[in-house]
Amino acid sequence: MTAPTTMRYRTVADHGFAETRLNESNQQLCFFTKRAFKKGEEIASFSSGSISSTPTYLTVQVGTNKHIMLQPSYLQYINHSCEPNCFFDTSTMKIIALANIGEGEELGFFYPSTEWEMQQPFRCFCGTPSCIGEVRGAAFLNREQVAHYRFTDYIVQRLTRKARKKVA
Ligand SMILES: [Zn+2]
Repeated sequence: MTAPTTMRYRTVADHGFAETRLNESNQQLCFFTKRAFKKGEEIASFSSGSISSTPTYLTVQVGTNKHIMLQPSYLQYINHSCEPNCFFDTSTMKIIALANIGEGEELGFFYPSTEWEMQQPFRCFCGTPSCIGEVRGAAFLNREQVAHYRFTDYIVQRLTRKARKKVA
């Protein structure tokens, strides 16, 4: 999550442990820590707002045909990263730090870690060495990519089922 120094951010909402900022160069909202977190530490817990059977670009998948709106809703401003520093555990409903995170760092999670097939795939320009390019969901990752990331229990089940089918 290295941001070029030319990017300008404005804080739009303070959540105590973190804040929502507006990236003034692309008008995208993003989420920054206001304190440090240790690897493995819980950053926040979440619950499900409305549940729908189809995904949108804002929902998080918790099961087959089960997609939740995040509560608190500001957590939706945690953007995708191909080198994520946090993970949405949809079994425990907690956001976990995947690495030591400093104060004032942007939080990013790997969208395919919760999403099997995304409704609105997009091209990632994060520029990190692990960038997967087209972000479409876990169903479209290759074996090396699958080995590189942590996934929710639900996505692990789907990946296991898919791998078994290939062998059969
Ligand atoms: Zn990327």
